[in-house]
Amino acid sequence: MACGRGEVSTLDWPALRQAVAGCQACSLCQSRRQTVFGTGHPQAQWLLVGEAPGEQEDAQGEPFVGAAGQLLDRMLAALGLTRADDGPQPPEQRVYITNTLKCRPPRNRNPSDQELASCEPFLVRQVVLLRPRLILALGRFAVQVLLRSDEPIGKLRGRVHQYEGVPVIVSYHPAYLLRSPHEKAKAWEDLCLAASVFEAGAAR
Ligand code: URA
Repeated sequence: MACGRGEVSTLDWPALRQAVAGCQACSLCQSRRQTVFGTGHPQAQWLLVGEAPGEQEDAQGEPFVGAAGQLLDRMLAALGLTRADDGPQPPEQRVYITNTLKCRPPRNRNPSDQELASCEPFLVRQVVLLRPRLILALGRFAVQVLLRSDEPIGKLRGRVHQYEGVPVIVSYHPAYLLRSPHEKAKAWEDLCLAASVFEAGAAR
């Protein structure tokens, strides 16, 4: 199914998931094993946006299940946050995780501008349905789509941006942190900034 933006913007969660699963809007549909929609509780108050599924995500159908995802989960757990969609956690401790692309680019190459544009309506709709209190943009492609910026992460992190009225904090992609562990301290600072912005929003 090739979904135009108008059509996607009316879908509820199950219909959106189905539209993503059947999407043929770009050539990634030919090489994917399956689409990777997103994971987390539909009332999660945090939204994390990564880049695109890798090999393990393509195999399992869930975002961030490889080494980068394990690092991400550990960082989230240190803040008391979880992607689990069951359990007793209140919405403010739950994160929903998705990617700019719902299909794996072959050999994990970078997403193209055309692929990002084709897939964007799905992310737009996920944000509308979730209504997160805070968005964490992980890496340059999430930043490109959400903030329309090509500035390096190092220049964008450390302050609060906005996406459709939702505060956005920018941080390094966890895969980059695995390659550059000396940057982990900055990523932790970013998460702490995100937590303080989240709490300040709650107090308003
Ligand atoms: N990297 C991403 O950006 N997303 C995933 O789901 C996995 C790795």
